[in-house]
This record gives sequence, C-alpha cells and structure tokens, in this order.
Amino acid sequence: MNLSQDILIIGGGIIGLSLAVELKLRGVSVTVISQNFQQAAARAAAGMLAPQAEQIPPSPMLDLCLKSRALYPAWIDKLEAITGLPAGYWPSGIIAPVCEGEVYEQPESFTLNYQWLDGDAIRQHQPGLGEKVIGGWWYPEDGQVDNRALFQALQTAAKELQIDVIQDSAIELIRQGNRVFGVETTAGKIKANRYVLATGAWSKQLLDIPVCPTKGQMLSVKVPEDSAVIQPLQTVLFGRGIYIVPRQDGRIIIGATSENVGFTGGNTPAGMQTLLAGAIKLYPELQNYPVLEFWWGFRPATLDELPILGASAWENLTLATGHYRNGILLAPVTAKLLADLMLEQKSDPLLADFHYSRFAGVLAI
Ligand SMILES: Cc1cc2nc3c(=O)[nH]c(=O)nc-3n(C[C@H](O)[C@H](O)[C@H](O)COP(=O)(O)OP(=O)(O)OC[C@H]3O[C@@H](n4cnc5c(N)ncnc54)[C@H](O)[C@@H]3O)c2cc1C
Repeated sequence: MNLSQDILIIGGGIIGLSLAVELKLRGVSVTVISQNFQQAAARAAAGMLAPQAEQIPPSPMLDLCLKSRALYPAWIDKLEAITGLPAGYWPSGIIAPVCEGEVYEQPESFTLNYQWLDGDAIRQHQPGLGEKVIGGWWYPEDGQVDNRALFQALQTAAKELQIDVIQDSAIELIRQGNRVFGVETTAGKIKANRYVLATGAWSKQLLDIPVCPTKGQMLSVKVPEDSAVIQPLQTVLFGRGIYIVPRQDGRIIIGATSENVGFTGGNTPAGMQTLLAGAIKLYPELQNYPVLEFWWGFRPATLDELPILGASAWENLTLATGHYRNGILLAPVTAKLLADLMLEQKSDPLLADFHYSRFAGVLAI
C-alpha cells in the first residue's frame, strides 16, 4: 500500500497518538499503525505527572519533565476542545509521605516549589493517613491525569482530525541505504515519506534498540457509595515503592510493582499483596473499600532509563520511545519537540541528551 500520507507512525500508544495529533494540527497528513490499543502502557499507567515526587535529580531529564508538566493544562484544553471529552487532568499536587524508619531525604532540586509537612501538618492537608506516617514532602505543582480518559480523548481526536489509524502490526522496517523504504505489516507493505517508531516496550522487535519491558502490576478500589464524600483523598500519595492516585469519580488507583520478567503478563498474589499492604499502611481506610480491577502493563525501559528521542541512523526515521516511568507526563513535550524537529528542522537543545547515539557500542544501528 502506497500512502499518500507523508508520515507513518508505528505504535498508537500515548506517544504515537500525541505526535500524530500534533503533526496533523500543523497540516501534515499522518497515518498510525498500531497492533493493540489494549496492551498500551498508556492504559495501564497511573497517570501521575510527578517529576518532583519521582525525585528526578537536576538534569536534562528533569528539565524535559518540567517543560512537559508546564505544557499539560493548555494541551489538555486543546484535546478537550477537539473532542468534547474530559481528559481527567487534575493538578491535585502530590504528597510524598515518610513513614517511621524511612530515610528522610531532602529533594535535590532546591529551586523548585516544595515544602516539608510534619505529622500534624500532613494530616491537616490529607486526613486519614496511617499512624506510621511521620511527615512528608508536599509538591504542589505535580499532579495527575486520568490516563485512560486521556487515551480515549487522543483516539477520538485522531478520528475527529481524520488521521488514518490502522489496527495491524508492523513486522519489519524495510531499509535501503540510509533510508527506510517501507514497512512490512500484517496488512501488507506500507510506504510513506517519513516514519516514526513509537512502539513503546515492543520497540526492540522492529529495531536493534536498547528498550525492554519493565512490568508493573496495578489495582484499583472504589470509595463506597454510602461514603459522606465522593472522594476523601484529595491528593496523590507517593510512598516508597507504592503510590495511591485518587480519581475525582471515587476510583483509587494503587501501583505499582517493577519487575524484570520480560513480557510475562498477569497479576500475582505476591504483587497484589505488596501493593495492598503498602497502600493500607499509608491510608488504612482503603482496607474497607471494594476492589474494582487488577491489571498490569509494560513500561518501555532503556539502559539509562531515559527516553530515546529524535533522529535515527536512517534519515527518514524518527525515534520516540523508551519513556519508561514517565511517558504520560512526557507526551506533550515529546509531541511538540518532535513535530518541531520533523517539520521545521528545529532541534530543541533539550533533545541532545536523548539521542540514540548515546548507546553507540551496544547498538547495531
Ligand atoms: C504500571 C505502569 C504505571 C505507569 N505509571 C505512569 C505514571 O504514573 N506517569 C507516567 O508519566 N507514566 C507512567 N507509566 C509509563 C507510561 O505508561 C509509558 O511510559 C507510556 O505509556 C509509553 O508510551 P508509548 O506510546 O511509548 O507506549 P505504549 O503506551 O505502550 O504504546 C505502544 C503501542 O505500540 C503498539 N505496538 C507495539 N509494537 C507494534 C508493532 N510492531 N506494530 C504496531 N504497533 C505496535 C502497542 O500495541 C501499543 O499500543 C506507567 C507505566 C506502567 C506500565
């Protein structure tokens, strides 16, 4: 199949769709091919927008994440205007509680906005915390988005903007000289002028690139119907190895394990036990809430846990993968910087640190 379309994006997760929408809004014809929307980490995530709570040290990665967090409100407004759908953005702030016996580390990014709350102050801020919580860091500018609502909004935006979205698998990138010539897919051969690889944890299946899956198990509970309020938790709780993310409709997302088990799916009793024990310790009332759902997903992890963004060894192939734990947060900045690069040859200095060539020596590309 020869596409009249200019750009073919392989992978329709949050990164592929965000970029597709951005490119289309700038007047370019775009096609997305994606094998399975259900398997996307975009659906599995917690949706935290948490550069500070994640304790990303001062670095180009922190700058990239902060830039993306700043882009979020306007980006969400734009998507909601296109689709008429709520994307569930909630700048709720994040509390990182510290429990008895845990080391009390000062955040490294001194210039950013944050505050230490002692045991009384943290309970004033969020009543109902477990008795082991002795205080915590308050990050007012971190927040969250309902990533499933956002993913739905992106899929709808793609439809509204008449972006072709093909549900099939890319099997092989056909390369000739220093260019990609086409993509072999389960629907036949597809050709375009330019290509983007945005296949998340599955990227290594198409290109020799150091991205592998890190599995995360998750679960959700729901505030009971007879509760006095729809949602007693008014901020994200980001503990050690556990986070609790309230949604405004009464759901509460609890995550996440971090496991190097390849693409082995499924929820395990050990995973669930760890999550439940950690969550109940931080917010004991949860133990009485009905369980809604268990699920898992695969984060696209690179060797240095940083994304791979921008040019590749092939002049018409752009890379947008390896977003690991922060792909929901990084979607707007990835879309903006890569659209600038692809359409205006404007390479933001921020991209330099995320170039694939930092893996020279481990790659065959
Ligand atoms: C449990 C968990 C919790 C997380 N929590 C957060 C969080 O709180 N905040 C945050 O910012 N990030 C979080 N993340 C990370 C975030 O979800 C990912 O970084 C992000 O989804 C990556 O986006 P992506 O588009 O690259 O990949 P995905 O969203 O995984 O999408 C990739 C898509 O490509 C498709 N695909 C793969 N191979 C092919 C092929 N050969 N042909 C066609 N299509 C293909 C797949 O079917 C999939 O739909 C979490 C992830 C997990 C798993």
